[in-house]
Amino acid sequence: MSETGENRQILLTPGPLTTSDTVKQAMLRDWGSRDSAFIEMTARLRQRLTAIAHGEETHSCVPVQGSGTFAVEATLGTLVPRDNGKLLILINGAYGRRMEKICHTMGRACTTYETAEDVPPDPNRVARLLEEDTTITHVAVVHCETTSGILNPIEAIAEIVAKANRKLIVDAMSTFGALPIDLRTMTADAIIASANKCLEGVPGVGYAIIQKDALAAAEGNALSLSLDLHDQASYMDRTSQWRFTPPTHVLAALDQALNELDAEGGVTARGARYTANCGVLVSGLRDLGFETFLPDLLQAPIIVTVRMPSDSGFNFQELYDTLNAQGIVLYPGAVTQEKSFRVGCIGRLGDADMKRALHAIRNALDDMGIPREGLKPAA
Ligand SMILES: *Cc1c(COP(=O)(O)O)cnc(C)c1O
Repeated sequence: MSETGENRQILLTPGPLTTSDTVKQAMLRDWGSRDSAFIEMTARLRQRLTAIAHGEETHSCVPVQGSGTFAVEATLGTLVPRDNGKLLILINGAYGRRMEKICHTMGRACTTYETAEDVPPDPNRVARLLEEDTTITHVAVVHCETTSGILNPIEAIAEIVAKANRKLIVDAMSTFGALPIDLRTMTADAIIASANKCLEGVPGVGYAIIQKDALAAAEGNALSLSLDLHDQASYMDRTSQWRFTPPTHVLAALDQALNELDAEGGVTARGARYTANCGVLVSGLRDLGFETFLPDLLQAPIIVTVRMPSDSGFNFQELYDTLNAQGIVLYPGAVTQEKSFRVGCIGRLGDADMKRALHAIRNALDDMGIPREGLKPAA
């Protein structure tokens, strides 16, 4: 289906996402991994990704094959020392919990500070925890916890962590490219993200933007060869080549996706489009009687969690299937506190797509016999 076609597939999910036709077309060429044009592309991508976070002076981008979790696991395994390292993980959703699981799997010491899925971590509490446990060396936080769509206060946490002389690792997977991250003003050892979220590339590569001294000091930390970002970076710095088969087509698509980010006006413009998408979506859903899980103040313009309505006529599976048949893909809920579903506002989507989705939802509610006055409040 073409990008401009009225019936194109739209993914209202947290990734993989809807991409442009031109991003997909960028994958039509086969690249030799030792080809000089490909080598240049790798170097260019590393620079461009670092520049998005304003880390040119201080940080280095280390890409790694795989989904976003591969990049998270590689970063934790590379940066948190195996002998005397200890990670404090701020958890308010599935991605924070996944970092805890990664630490357990890799045998890295960790401790957690968990809040409810609709409650951001309190920076003052983080300060106290760092004071109380002097063995903590690193803190990990998720920027937008995609489980609910909540925005966590990473700048305030970064300030506390830097003041306490510890290192910060940010999972910015679902925000990178849409919400500003400025490494000139925010202290962080690593920012982790992937190609297929707000950068609107295709899945297959993740990356960490790592503070250069921290990266240099990480030699020998990793207990995995393929997920050793120190080894990956030093080989790339020396040769501009990848150690193992690179995801060539994915990288070509990402290069094109970054051209399209620039053409749109960069992070500010992309964030503004997603914010507009989110606004149309939330107000349209509320008009239909749906309730959002998060208050507007905590809602990142990434993905909206919707409380499952209590109307006896409402059937989420039916809603999902009806929309899916029209090429509109919703996302089942993931918050543990209550039944919900999610609607994403990121990807190559705009106002018309949001309205198309709302219209399709209204029609599906009609078919379920839900009155026009709207749904009953969630149970
Ligand atoms: C998508 C995402 C990840 C990575 O998930 P993968 O399925 O491995 O790509 C990690 N953290 C957050 C916050 C995410 O949104």
